[in-house]
Amino acid sequence: MGDRPVCVCCGKCCDGVPYKLDAKQRAKHRHVLSYDNGEWDVSSEQWQRNIEDSRFILEHWHVRKGVTQCDQYDRQRKLCKVHENGKPPVCTKFPYYDYEEPVEVPPGCVFEKVKKEAP
Ligand code: SF4
Ligand code: SF4
Repeated sequence: MGDRPVCVCCGKCCDGVPYKLDAKQRAKHRHVLSYDNGEWDVSSEQWQRNIEDSRFILEHWHVRKGVTQCDQYDRQRKLCKVHENGKPPVCTKFPYYDYEEPVEVPPGCVFEKVKKEAP
């Protein structure tokens, strides 16, 4: 694993979240939340992450003109309103998550070069 660049907080991944939130994805997130009903053991870290992500995504990400937007992004100040408290794992772990290489990033992101250089 090479040196990873440092996020410059440009906001490009918030003002147009690189995540296609279509009907199928929404249904998947609702399905995840349906397990959080007291009948299942959802105490593992992975489950808690999935539940937190699903809840946040369904509540705060909206598709406008085909682009996924987060209503917690302050466009004028180019800031995440929940950066200190409340940012879901899908954001805090972006763009590497548990992988060696970054996932799809928006054009101009500092991780784009790493992505292009990845074998
Ligand atoms: S687009 Fe890349 S550099 Fe910009 S905030 Fe997102 S992760 Fe950081
Ligand atoms: S929660 Fe914050 S980091 Fe995540 S998409 Fe929204 S504005 Fe961006």
